[in-house]
Order: sequence, then C-alpha cells, then structure tokens
Amino acid sequence: MKNITLIDCHTHFHDDKYTTEGYTTNDLIDDAINGGVKYFMSTGYDVASSKASVRDAMKHKSVFAVIGIHPNNVEDVSEIEIAEIAKLAKLDKVKGIGEIGLDFYYSDKNKDKQMFIFEEQVKIAKENNLVVVLHIRDQKNHTDVYYSCLKMLIKHKIKKAMVHCFTADQAVADAFIKEGYYISIGGVVTFPNAKELQHVVEKVPMKYLVTETDAPYLTPVPYRGTTNRQEYIIHTIKKMAELKKISTEEMAEVTYSNAKNLFGLV
Ligand SMILES: [Zn+2]
Repeated sequence: MKNITLIDCHTHFHDDKYTTEGYTTNDLIDDAINGGVKYFMSTGYDVASSKASVRDAMKHKSVFAVIGIHPNNVEDVSEIEIAEIAKLAKLDKVKGIGEIGLDFYYSDKNKDKQMFIFEEQVKIAKENNLVVVLHIRDQKNHTDVYYSCLKMLIKHKIKKAMVHCFTADQAVADAFIKEGYYISIGGVVTFPNAKELQHVVEKVPMKYLVTETDAPYLTPVPYRGTTNRQEYIIHTIKKMAELKKISTEEMAEVTYSNAKNLFGLV
C-alpha cells in the first residue's frame, strides 16, 4: 500500500493504560505517523484530560484537541468546570467539544445532571463553532437516548457533529445523517460478531463516514485483546473498505477528506 494518509478522529493519549505500559505521547505519535496517521484528535473526558489534550495540541503539529466532560463523569461537576471548558474552547487548536453526550448503559440515575452538563457543553460548541463529538450509550437493545442527543443538537442548531464509536442500528444512523452529522467507526467493526454495525457501514453513504481508534480501547482485529494503538486504525479502514467493496486506499482517502471537512483542518 502506498501513500496512505489517515486521521484518527478520536483518541486518548493520556490514558492510564499507556502510562502503565510505559508509552509516552511522543512514542505513540511517532509510531502512528510512521503508520500513516497524519492528524490526531486528542480527546478529553474531564477537565484534567481536556487540558492534557490541549497541551498535546500546543506541542505537536499533528495533534488537535477535543475537550469536554464525559457523561459518566458529571457527578461532581459544577459551573466551575463548565467555565474551564468554555475558556479552553477559545483556543485555536481546539476543534471540538467532546466526548460529551448521554450514557444510560448501567443506569439513568444521573439523568438530569447528564442532560444539564450535556446541554451546557453543546452551547459552548455552538458559541465557538466547534464540532460536537458525541458519546452515546443506551441500555441494551434500546436506542431512545440517541434520539435525545439528536434532539439536543437540533435544538441548538448544531451544524457539525460526529457520533463517536457508532454501534447503534441503521435507523439511528439514518436519523443522524439526515441532519448532516457524521458516523465515526472504530475497531468494533472488525469484530466477527459485529454484524449489525457491518451492515450499517455497508449502507451509510461514504460522505458521512469517518474513523477513529478510541485508543487505548476497542482494539481492532487482529490485535484484539491487546492495548489499542493509533496506527491500528488501518485495520478498521481495511474492514470498512471490504464492506464497501472498494480499495483500502480509496477508503482511506475518503475518510481522510471527510474528517478534514468535519474538523475544518487545512
Ligand atoms: Zn473515547
């Protein structure tokens, strides 16, 4: 394969897994660049990790920051943290607000708080014309929460959004696409039992597809079971190409240009 250039639309350089295994952000970035990854969206999930993403972005030309408070981390969040996110959002290399959204997978006990924090951050994205990077998880076999998130984006007239690590069904994908939002595909698509997701990739028009690693999580086949790394994104792209019956090169090219459009990279 020649001249493949990729964008990892959602990754976490500062996860404890990397620290434990002794990988620095520099190591990870160098290896991934050698593997064809040109840009990284270093994504936060609370104020500390968002600040770390911003530091990555300031230091590395290839890194941009996506900042925000994850729905599972809202419990102790106050207006102070929201104000910090709002302040960071003004910086040049911040391209998105995420990962934000709603997560009722285990329980909906923080439902109102999740909704409130999500909405406050959607407003920050709107004010700063940033991409909303959504983390959405519903209880098993339910999809209502996807529509709640979608409603929120429409309410605030959000133009640019992506559903991170999409794993819902075709109807949900269609509803997001209808609003012009992107569907981000991660390593799950390479899992043999991910039939529904594979079907979604077959059906979603090429112009709405982007890719991510969510590293160090959700490692694609053939590395499943090990810590995910940013350069493994090529295995996700290969699988997507196979599903679309096109070449890996073409899949890489299209997802690269989609991600550039989405995040406004030049
Ligand atoms: Zn993530």
